[in-house]
Amino acid sequence: MLLSMTIAFFVFTLNSCNKAEETPKVKNIIMLIGDGMGPTHIPSLMLEEQYAPTNFERAKRASFVTTYSHNNRVTDSAAAGTALACGEKTDNSVIGLTAEGDTLISNLAFAKALGMPSAIVVSCDITHATPASFYAHAKHRNERENIAAWLPNSGIDVIFGGGLTAFTNRGDSINLMNKFKENGYLVIDSLQQTEGITEGKVIGLFADEHLPSIVNGRGDMLPQATQKALDILTANSEKSGKGFFMMVEGSQIDFESHANNPKGIYGEMKDFDKVTGIAFDYADSHPGTLVIVCADHDTGGMSIPSCKTDFTLGESGVEYNFGSTSHTATMTPALFYGTGADEFGAIIDNTDIAKKVRELLLTRN
Ligand SMILES: [Zn+2]
Repeated sequence: MLLSMTIAFFVFTLNSCNKAEETPKVKNIIMLIGDGMGPTHIPSLMLEEQYAPTNFERAKRASFVTTYSHNNRVTDSAAAGTALACGEKTDNSVIGLTAEGDTLISNLAFAKALGMPSAIVVSCDITHATPASFYAHAKHRNERENIAAWLPNSGIDVIFGGGLTAFTNRGDSINLMNKFKENGYLVIDSLQQTEGITEGKVIGLFADEHLPSIVNGRGDMLPQATQKALDILTANSEKSGKGFFMMVEGSQIDFESHANNPKGIYGEMKDFDKVTGIAFDYADSHPGTLVIVCADHDTGGMSIPSCKTDFTLGESGVEYNFGSTSHTATMTPALFYGTGADEFGAIIDNTDIAKKVRELLLTRN
């Protein structure tokens, strides 16, 4: 009798432990998007690093992701960004709207409505298609000034990237940086100026358009800006008592892949891997943090064949071949780390990522 009661107690305890493990709170969501990062980009980094461990390899789960848009099997960053931000397919070039023109709510806007602090950190013009999909609504990605006008009222706590002229040199002569000041933002023009900033709202647009590429001297801007944004979000999050939502884009993987430039791709992938390491470290020290590393689409159709076709030989060197100077229809990788990482399927659609994030925001935060 005593034994069966003891067993029953252990089974009960075990079950409740399992239950607790099954439904941990997902407090913070960090979404890292490698623009143009196809299936061969991570392998190319591993190869260039002589198979020294990369941060990507720390991921606990990996998936393949379909990226087709509403009107094209080969997506662009606008339709793919909208899918990742809002969970709906739309036409290429469309930002934050359905193909019929209805307004979509991004997970960032949704998180904000729940009272969660948020951040966007990119190495491109902040009005570019991927980041724009998280805060703007536009029929065409080229509507740069229209897209910019959405940002000052977005409520996003931390904004780091490029694209200053979309805010200061406009057809309507309005200086949108003043609008940020009116809305309580600290406006800075270099990352060094963030040194004393520990909380609150801050915008730093560090280039007129895109920041330089890694090979042209961008340095550690993206990893440093990511770390700073995390520090500020952590403080804001403690104040609000809510978790945060953050999107960081490795924007220029796409540019170097359009250029079919292996050296440039290596530089941008190494940079994005550093960002991934920072996010994974944060998840390690802050339980309840989910990190998603994904791509909007593949760019370049890169392959890495041996220099010699005789595969019976030993090492014969490898080369980088490109099937395209544009985007492709291939599936892209997605990596997951931290709380909730095991919620994602193995072969999924880009909209599934956003839908799952929405579900986690609704049920677990
Ligand atoms: Zn592209």
